[in-house]
Amino acid sequence: MADVGIENRNGQKLIRKTTERGNHRFARVWILKCSICKREYEANSCDFHERHCPNRDKH
Ligand SMILES: [Zn+2]
Repeated sequence: MADVGIENRNGQKLIRKTTERGNHRFARVWILKCSICKREYEANSCDFHERHCPNRDKH
């Protein structure tokens, strides 16, 4: 189980968990922040561990 404040291996930090439904079955929307470019974005909770920054190509 992921806690707010932890970072995945791609440097994406979990900022906040919402109760909003994600676009995958059973997923919730989580707010993540990239430790490289500081961008904040929404992601499916189920993708957190594998998630890369949406700006990854521009890093
Ligand atoms: Zn980034």
